Parts: sequence; structure tokens; C-alpha cells
Amino acid sequence: MKLQKLQLLSKNILKKERIKKLFLSFLLYPTFLLSDAHIFVYHRFGDSRYPTTDTSIKELKKEFEYFKNNGYKVIKLDTLVDALKNHQKIDDKWVILTIDDNFKSFYQNGLKIFKQYHYPFSLFIYVKATEDKYPDYTSWKELKEISKYGNLEFHSYSHPHMTYKSDKYLKNDFKKGLELIKKKLGITPKYFAYPYGEYDKRVQNIAKKFGFEAIINQNIGAVNKYSNIYDLDRNALVGKSNLKRDLNYKKLNIDIIAPKEYPKNGILKKIMAKLYNNSVKSAGYYLSGYGWNKLKVKHGLIDEKIDKKLIKKRSRIVINVKNAIETKLLIKDKYGTK
Ligand SMILES: [Zn+2]
Repeated sequence: MKLQKLQLLSKNILKKERIKKLFLSFLLYPTFLLSDAHIFVYHRFGDSRYPTTDTSIKELKKEFEYFKNNGYKVIKLDTLVDALKNHQKIDDKWVILTIDDNFKSFYQNGLKIFKQYHYPFSLFIYVKATEDKYPDYTSWKELKEISKYGNLEFHSYSHPHMTYKSDKYLKNDFKKGLELIKKKLGITPKYFAYPYGEYDKRVQNIAKKFGFEAIINQNIGAVNKYSNIYDLDRNALVGKSNLKRDLNYKKLNIDIIAPKEYPKNGILKKIMAKLYNNSVKSAGYYLSGYGWNKLKVKHGLIDEKIDKKLIKKRSRIVINVKNAIETKLLIKDKYGTK
């Protein structure tokens, strides 16, 4: 009898311990409890000559209907950046729409759909294309008109591959582009998006010197309250998109310790990272040219030998835990310290 009682007692304790453990792991699972906003980028609209950067008007309407019918709130980039700065709540239903490269097709085909849905947008200007009157790009006059409906932001003067340019070239590029926007439109852009989404620490540091309130990359992912306002993830929408999947992405709260930059000899030796969640047992990673593989996680730490030669000059490592992801862009820097 006594033994039975004892067994029952220990069973109860065990049960309580299990519940406590479950509760604790729940608390330690912030990644999956935090709300995430999603930033998207478009390029061309209804311009079938360029299928890799185009969104057809039919597809655009389909996407806008999806946002509308599923409770998504298309908000200004300002709202998100303000919330991040002031440590306010990020809404899981927030969607931010951006457009890179001020192609004429936005002015001619896309803008009216944005107006129809009253969706705000941020257009990132490739300044030289407008200044030198490239035929496929909007004029200053058209940009002025566009500015009535959305915000105009900065996408560089000459649209260079920035990691291949010297500090001097880059500083000059920022200065020239920002001055022209001020002169022609009377605007001081608040945000910057990297041409081709290419950057590293050196390029980021130069960009930050120009006083932008936030900087946007082009890494797949989402934005939560731990996101760095100078490194906001953004998903491209092109062709037939998979909005449901994209909107399901969460930001993975992880500190990637290695690699920090494109490896000197082009060989990715290892991946080291710290997850802010000790209960995660396994993760995955994607490496450009190699596809997806598994990563072991021990007490929230990843320390995995990889030893793979990077195939592309612009390689991505995406680490995932379920639908939470974080991207590390590895790109050759011609003028960096390496
Ligand atoms: Zn661009």
C-alpha cells in the first residue's frame, strides 16, 4: 500500500515536472510566439519582356485580393520602422510593399492597382536611370506624380555591385544620388535598399553614415521585434508567387557567429550559431548550390563542420527551425580587409 502510494506520488511529481518542463519550453520558444511582419519587393509590372523581374497585373491583383481576404494590413514602411524603434508590438498581419528600380512599367501598369486598393508603397529610386533618361525608367516628373501615392526612397545613384566598389566610390555614389533627389523632388529619403540586395559589413557601415532610418536587404525572411533596423529582410515577389508560404515565414532569433564574411579561400569551413531557444534539437541549413541539409543543435548551439567550396560568388546560407528562418549573405568584397 505504502509503495503504491509512493509510486502514485512520484508519478504525480513526474507529471507535474513534465507540465512544468512543457510550460518552460513554451516560454523558451519565443521564436514561435513573436509576431512577424513581412516586407515584399516588386520590380516590373505587366512587362512580359522580363519574366525574371516581372509581376503580371493579373498576379498582382491576385496577391492584393489575398491580402484583403485574409485580414492582412498593408501598412507604410514608416509604421513598421517606428514600431521597431519604439519597441512597440509588431502585428502578425502587417505587410509592407516596396518596389525597386522605378521602372516605367510601375508608373504605366502597377500604380493604378495600388491606387485601387489604397495600398501604400515605398519606391526605391535608381537615380542615374532617371537623371540620364534611360528609356525604361520613370522621369522626374513621373516620380513627382508617384510621390502623391507612396514614399520615394533611395536605391543608389549608379546601381553598382557595391561590394566591388571602393569606399570612395560608394560615398560619392550616395552623395550624388541623394543630392539629385533633393534637388529634383525636394525629398530626403529615409530608407535605403541595396542594389541587387548585395552588401556586407563594410558596405552597410558606409550606408549607415548617410543617416538612413532603416536599411532594407533582399534576404528571404520576416521582421520581428529583434530585427535590426539596418538589416531588414525582404522577400521578392515575381512571376507566380507563393504568398501563403512567404507569409508563414518567421524570423529565427539566432546569432550567426561563423561565417561572418565570404571565406578567404572560398571554402565554408563551419557554421557556428547561437539560438535563443535551448529546447531546439535540430535545425536545417540551405547553401547556394548545395540545397538543404541538417544541422545538429546542442543546448541552443550549432557548431557544424561543413568544408564545402562555395560555388557562387554570391552565396546564401539560410538556417531554419521549422518555418523560422535567418539568412546570411556571403559575397566577395573586392575592397574589404580580406
Ligand atoms: Zn535594383
